Order: sequence, then C-alpha cells, then structure tokens
Amino acid sequence: MRWSSLLLVLLVGCAAPGGFALDERWRPLERVVLDRGVRDGWAQTLVPNVYCADPASLRPNHVAAAALLVHERFHAQRQLDFGVTAWVNAYRNDAAFRTTEELAGWHVQLQYLQDHGVEFDPLDVAEKLLSYDPKLQLDYTTAVFWARHEQRR
Ligand SMILES: [Zn+2]
Repeated sequence: MRWSSLLLVLLVGCAAPGGFALDERWRPLERVVLDRGVRDGWAQTLVPNVYCADPASLRPNHVAAAALLVHERFHAQRQLDFGVTAWVNAYRNDAAFRTTEELAGWHVQLQYLQDHGVEFDPLDVAEKLLSYDPKLQLDYTTAVFWARHEQRR
C-alpha cells in the first residue's frame, strides 16, 4: 500500500513536466497532466486533473482547447456534486448515465465554440460521439440530429 502510493507520487511527479497548471477560471480543475494511455485527441477528467496524451493541445489560449476544457470542467463539477467514486462507477457501468453526462458536456463545449464565433460540423461531432469507448447509447442518426440541434441558425 505504502509502495503503491509512493509509485503514484513518482509517476505524477514524472508526468508534471509534460503538463501545466490551470488558472482559477478552470476550477475545480487544477492541472492538465500527460497520460500517454489516453487516446490522441481525447481527454479524461478525474477532478482536479485532466489527462491527455498531448497536454500542449489543451492550452486554453486556443478556442477549441478552451471549449474542451469547459466540457471537462463540467465533468469535474459533476464529479464533486455526485461524489467522485459514485460518478466514476456510474460513468463506467451505466451507459444511459454516461450518455447523459457526455451530451451535457458536449452541449457546453459546442455553446462555448459558438459564443466565440467558431462553427462546428455536426457530422464530425456525431462521429466523435459514436467513437466513445465505452460506447454511448446513440446511433448515428440520433447523434447527427442532436448535433444539428446544437447549432445556432
Ligand atoms: Zn466528456
């Protein structure tokens, strides 16, 4: 037990140079942490950290990166509200819960993009929604319909 805690500290210590601290605006998120186990172009959040294979891609000076952080911040806040362990268990084991959480995360992300003048392609969003692992409870038609509904006209 003691050894595994030490190992964890060492691993986090090693990962730190590949990550960066987030400022107050992103609370309850505190850091973006390098994790090569996360798929390219994806992020995973366990409050207060966001893990990704390329931390530089999440620097919030880019609108797309900030939008993704808004999505991850939403998960982080929900984890605190729900209880982190309960949230993680529900996310892993309950596809309906996972789907609801992700669509809510994507909602704030897509609204943020549009608030900052960035358009998105609903087909790209649908594609991404269908490539979650573990899967969301969505078929392609529903995902496209949902993403189109998020677009402001
Ligand atoms: Zn998400």
